[in-house]
Amino acid sequence: MGVRPPTVVASRLVAESLSLPGFVNAHSHTFQRALRGRAAGGDFWAWRENMLAAAERQTPALVRVSYEAAYREMRAAGFTAVGEFHYLGLPEAFAAREAAAAAGIELVLLHVAYARGGLSRFRQESARAYFSEIEELRADGIRVGLAPHSVRACPVDWLEEIGRYAESERIPLHVHADEQPKEIEECLAEHGCRPIELLARSGCLGERTTVIHATHADGAELDLLASTGAIICACPTTEADLGDGFLPAERIRGRGIPLCIGTDSNVRIDPFEELRELEGIARRQTGRRGIFSTDELFRFGSELGARAIGLESWPGIEIDLGRRSLQGVAPEHVAGALVAGCAADVVKG
Ligand SMILES: [Zn+2]
Repeated sequence: MGVRPPTVVASRLVAESLSLPGFVNAHSHTFQRALRGRAAGGDFWAWRENMLAAAERQTPALVRVSYEAAYREMRAAGFTAVGEFHYLGLPEAFAAREAAAAAGIELVLLHVAYARGGLSRFRQESARAYFSEIEELRADGIRVGLAPHSVRACPVDWLEEIGRYAESERIPLHVHADEQPKEIEECLAEHGCRPIELLARSGCLGERTTVIHATHADGAELDLLASTGAIICACPTTEADLGDGFLPAERIRGRGIPLCIGTDSNVRIDPFEELRELEGIARRQTGRRGIFSTDELFRFGSELGARAIGLESWPGIEIDLGRRSLQGVAPEHVAGALVAGCAADVVKG
């Protein structure tokens, strides 16, 4: 087992810098970085049309160049590891691995299973064909996780096989769920239950499972996440940008469900902003402050993200205490000030 980075409490405060665990970006579709500022208006489903057009344009050469640039931005912002939720095909997966190595960021490739809908390039013919892609990536030394895209994209028999594979191979399983009301309505119509209930029925919920979003999860679904030990990955800046809704922050906190963060569409790349949004949502919902402690927020941003993508060790970062946004902050208040009032430019390059 690798050496774990220090917790924020135990971090070393020296003259001009503060050592912290690196942040872990547990959910990224890195090609979507190119859409920022370009796809205004409409709703999530209109944005999705633009996203699909961008996905169609991707080539291994484009991924190699554009992912390295985005990964360098992540690294500069303090993310030292990333879970790439990848639905662009195998050649692009290998290109993403090269881009991450060039940018100096740890990569876990969450390779997507996609049976229906979307673009033809996303899809495999069968769960067996999907597992052979997974084996090809693993044989080449790429750290992988399983990623049935959503209950929209994968039928129950695929979910069952993927759940069994994740369990037997002891690797992470990531899946989008409850991001948009329409997805829940479709699941109810097809299966007579909600998405997280379907994941539970098909053996896809457990300690190695990360459910992305869970924005519209109801109480019974949250209870299932709590009882199975699954993690929720919140992506607040993307969820705001796409009009998804608010994470049920206090209900998640009350059940003790672990949280981690992701930059998702990469409209913003800033771990402090994701964490601030999490706490901000909780404050707006409750009228109270400090629903999540600073220490909890840092754990969401680092340790729990690493757990979600199956990493035991990942590089740390240094905070530049000389930055303007930290001037006049007493040492004991620096961690709180980072979450409450700083952007990622406080991270030393
Ligand atoms: Zn996503």
